[in-house]
Amino acid sequence: MPVTLFTSSRYSDHLTPPGHPERVERFEVMQAVAAEFRTSGGTVLEPRPASRDELARIHGVDYIGLIAETAGRATALDADTFTSPDTFDVARLAAGAAVTAVEHVLAGEGRRACALVRPPGHHAEADRAMGFCFFNNVAIGAAHARSTGLQRVAIVDYDVHHGNGTQWSFYTDPSVLFVSSHQFPYYPGTGSASEVGSGAGTGFTINLPLAAGATDADYELVYVRVAIPALRQFNPELILVSAGFDAYLDDPLGGMRLTASCFGRLTSMIVAVADDCCAGRVVAITEGGYHLQGLAESLRETIDALDAESDDRADAGAALKGRPDEPARRHELASEQERTGHADAAVNADTSRGQATLNVVLPAVSPYWTL
Ligand SMILES: [Zn+2]
Repeated sequence: MPVTLFTSSRYSDHLTPPGHPERVERFEVMQAVAAEFRTSGGTVLEPRPASRDELARIHGVDYIGLIAETAGRATALDADTFTSPDTFDVARLAAGAAVTAVEHVLAGEGRRACALVRPPGHHAEADRAMGFCFFNNVAIGAAHARSTGLQRVAIVDYDVHHGNGTQWSFYTDPSVLFVSSHQFPYYPGTGSASEVGSGAGTGFTINLPLAAGATDADYELVYVRVAIPALRQFNPELILVSAGFDAYLDDPLGGMRLTASCFGRLTSMIVAVADDCCAGRVVAITEGGYHLQGLAESLRETIDALDAESDDRADAGAALKGRPDEPARRHELASEQERTGHADAAVNADTSRGQATLNVVLPAVSPYWTL
């Protein structure tokens, strides 16, 4: 099996106040999915905690100290980000799962990995905990990959919220391409199409802001037209995925309408790029996802997509190369969706939200990518 899971029962030991959406029950769902995977013959490994040096590639030393000092205590770091006595250790283990999974894939022990963790990470900034996040797991994983000598690492974030912490971690860095699709305007407020990076990193941040109510077809449109071709042109040596499932249609925090299978299709598109660019190397790390059934189904779909052999996808994504004219674009969208089994639904669906996103994103990113 191409994919290995990384998780730990310790992720149940980060506690949040009653009624908080980022609750222990989320991890019980992840554990159940991991148990199914193990039963079906898959490998599930225990991660190690991230070291302070590994955290410090992304976070300030004083900030790491501040989180360390919450050990043994329950504190509120902002209006919705709370520590419990074990939070520091559990958050280090979540960041460590990203590091361990990256090491696993780069060592050639497996082509793909999926870290099932909490707390999530993509809102955590260099010196700030926010949005349920303490350490930026995916950013720490990307920085670790860079530290081993990789020159180009891509991060795709399909959580319903903008991954502000990840964006700012690499905003001036051309070696890390950050692509985020998210509900906009929405928490945390960043992620407009005009945020494209700065300095040497200009062009290496791509935001795909989508209006509330976006569907599978809207997401697939913006991935096929922007995210996937840009990823392919970047030619990454490793792709990381911030795998948040709160764009699921019944999620209590998100306003989107994605089916669970859409997360699998988005992941399959990413895997197809990895197969062509970097020997299939993809590491997914969980982020949000607050509807328990939706979390379970979306996670299963994502793991299945990561576990698919290259042959299963045939020439997936091959049609996306080059610079097609408009009819060809329609054709390529159709073939991508035929391949994923949703041709009729997606081609005939209302994609007005996705089109609106393209209308603002294409002018913003076309100076840097051939789209
Ligand atoms: Zn989220």
